[in-house]
Amino acid sequence: MTKKIAILPGDGIGPEIIEQAKRVLSALPVDIDTETAMVGGAAYDKHGHPLPEKTLELAKNSDAILFGAVGDWKYDSLERDLRPEQAILGLRKHLGLFANFRPAILFPELAHASSLKPDLVAGLDILIMRELTGDIYFGQPRGVRVLDEGPFKGEMQGFDTMHYAESEVRRIAHVAFQAAKKRNKKLCNVDKANVLETSQFWRDIVTEVAKEYPDVELTHMYVDNAAMQLVRAPKEFDVIVTGNLFGDILSDAAAMLTGSIGMLPSASLNASKQGLYEPIHGSAPDIAGKGVANPLAMILSVAMLLRYSLDMSPLADKVESAVSSVLRQGYRTPDLYQEGTIKVSTSEMGDAILKALN
Ligand code: NAD
Repeated sequence: MTKKIAILPGDGIGPEIIEQAKRVLSALPVDIDTETAMVGGAAYDKHGHPLPEKTLELAKNSDAILFGAVGDWKYDSLERDLRPEQAILGLRKHLGLFANFRPAILFPELAHASSLKPDLVAGLDILIMRELTGDIYFGQPRGVRVLDEGPFKGEMQGFDTMHYAESEVRRIAHVAFQAAKKRNKKLCNVDKANVLETSQFWRDIVTEVAKEYPDVELTHMYVDNAAMQLVRAPKEFDVIVTGNLFGDILSDAAAMLTGSIGMLPSASLNASKQGLYEPIHGSAPDIAGKGVANPLAMILSVAMLLRYSLDMSPLADKVESAVSSVLRQGYRTPDLYQEGTIKVSTSEMGDAILKALN
């Protein structure tokens, strides 16, 4: 059956890198129907909202969304609800995208780009699974109040609430176990169960769900230790599952192990495998329109889309092998260029990928 893909290029380098992703999709034997719509600052300029109704409808009616990037400093003075970044939050909320897949992969050819010693990170391939719609980021009540008792009586106090419902933990745990099953069958649950009630509850539920996946080895780690191990011996990990707050921080730390923001894709999925696929970087207004943006994170997002929303792992492997191959051949956009390699533009990198695919 024909699958429907919504293409949302967005702002800055978004349209340039999406263009290369579209070329990759066209070169593959997939039965898809694509439709493009405006999002972010571009949508605000044209329709007065970063996530126009028409764009949201298209996203809801698609099997997957390929999302470029949104944002520009020129929108910083807009009220919060109208800023470009609200488009991503709106899509997450309306589509119920609770499972955020953040792989941190370091192609051996780029080991020098990491801030860690090459032997610690060369060939790194870990997957951080972050719960995306719950936790202290959305917990109520929250706000600022005046304390009427205790040692700080009479003072103002800022507060938030951390909580997770059983079904929220169960569904992310299942997604994480299933992802681990397709990889090296090792899942590390990261929490702060020694201090937080929410974490102890989370850990108990994850342990219960583990009984349904006897072939996956489950371990538990406190988040402070996980932060340490990520920079000490990151290759020890396979899949990490964690809540929204801890995942936010750990996934950015893991991304930097790879040293290159232009190389990392991500996916956010809901219960029916509908997903939003995007590079982890932003719209890079400083280099937009110059033809120098690295399109590989966007192209690797296409691979994730094929794997997770279209169930076409062999094609996903093919796209990832093409990326490996062009790096081996020495092609680099300026962000990764060093002496002895071949400097290419955004579209020339696309050309090299297409050649490798064929
Ligand atoms: P950024 O990720 O856009 O850029 C950080 C730095 O990395 C810049 O120097 C940029 O040139 C470089 N860079 C990023 N992607 C690159 C690529 N593919 N190739 C080569 N170099 C690349 O982050 P920022 O500068 O903090 O934010 C810019 C705008 O993007 C802001 O408006 C921010 O809110 C927005 N943003 C959007 C998203 C998203 O759409 N998901 C994510 C983060 C930031």
